Amino acid sequence: MDAYTYIKKSDENLRNAIHKAYGKKCFYCGEKINMNQLEVDHIIPICVTTKPTTTEMEDYFNELEEKNFIKDCIANYLPACSHCNKQKGNQYLAVGNLRYYHEQTIRHTNKVLKLMEKFRYAKEDPKKEREFEALSRGKDYIQKKTISETPHDCVYAYGLGAVRVNAFLPMKLKGELACLILFKQNGLIDCNLSLDEIDIKTYFFEGYKTGVTTSRNYIWYIDSDVFAIKLPNNRFSSDFETAEQLSIIFDDLYDEYYKRKDVLLNTVGATYFEEVDKGEFLLLSLPKNIWLGMVDFAQKHDHFIGDSEWDIFKPLSLVDNDHIMIYKNHLDNTKADVLAELYVKDMSRSYVDVVWKAGYTSHFRDMEGFDNKSKWKADYTHGWILNEFIPYLIYLNAPDDRNFLQRIYKRKLSLEEFKAGFDYRKFGIFSRSLNEPDD
Ligand SMILES: [Zn+2]
Repeated sequence: MDAYTYIKKSDENLRNAIHKAYGKKCFYCGEKINMNQLEVDHIIPICVTTKPTTTEMEDYFNELEEKNFIKDCIANYLPACSHCNKQKGNQYLAVGNLRYYHEQTIRHTNKVLKLMEKFRYAKEDPKKEREFEALSRGKDYIQKKTISETPHDCVYAYGLGAVRVNAFLPMKLKGELACLILFKQNGLIDCNLSLDEIDIKTYFFEGYKTGVTTSRNYIWYIDSDVFAIKLPNNRFSSDFETAEQLSIIFDDLYDEYYKRKDVLLNTVGATYFEEVDKGEFLLLSLPKNIWLGMVDFAQKHDHFIGDSEWDIFKPLSLVDNDHIMIYKNHLDNTKADVLAELYVKDMSRSYVDVVWKAGYTSHFRDMEGFDNKSKWKADYTHGWILNEFIPYLIYLNAPDDRNFLQRIYKRKLSLEEFKAGFDYRKFGIFSRSLNEPDD
């Protein structure tokens, strides 16, 4: 049974279902009506094969005929109060109106059918009604959008009738977006397509807000009213309703995903850095010799042994010169709180990119503790390297540069004075923060 299957408008289950599916209101004036007042109105009052009055109307009727449209079917029924029904009488409406009304009935068809089934069960056996509801709960294609969050996951659910999507939104930087798509369409009804983040971005986020067009990667081609859907390992023909609902739901999921992503980025201070890998952000580009100077310094400032404010690094072997781990300074030798981690992606180049990864401690969860004490945010780490770490290194290790400034000041400079006059750009260091103007 579908929108165009023959059914008499006096059918009791149908009347009940239409009443409920359209919110117990007259579709035309919006007035609340009870079951006794309900009149099921034929949108097109007589058989479509008879006397169209304009060519536009004729075209529309031909269109309907191709869909095997008949007078007595769900696609042609709307709930009306007796006043509106009488006023409408037997006259034709403008084609624009007809098209709109028919779109509405098609949109409501799944709901009407489902309610009819429910009422049929209820009549047969009241106990069965509850059973049916339990069974269909997992496959309710109409579902108000919900986002429910537990400490372990964040589930997004949204269904418009032909399609329902259940998605898992990421709760941490390394978390992945994933989703399950359920189709009401015959032949796909028991087929749950599961997609990972790359697939979702490729097939659905590309072409965001472009409507039902082939700018969307999931729409392979459109041939009049056939919408060819292309998904990873799946190709099938579908209708406008399915294609449109996919676009509406995934545009909405796009918004929700990036809204959440912004919150996560903000929590770790990474809003203005390029994410080069999941949860890893590009902070700086600098000459390799400066990076090697940083590694060398880190190797001499073991957080387990030293007691100066600079003894905050994990001791590293010489081979491991592409990583710097910044620890909390612990003289009790028992804790290992990592404030942040830095690494260089490609050590073979003379200019290297320095990437930030979140630190970790035993007493905070992944997204907690970014207060720049327990864990360092990306922007804080970035500022610390440029304004503290590198100036200090150069102050200690590059007497030429220090002397240059000292000549200008005509006396020996303190570290604080040196830092105040320090400009990292003169050393070929580039900030990769997207928040700063490039020069
Ligand atoms: Zn009315």
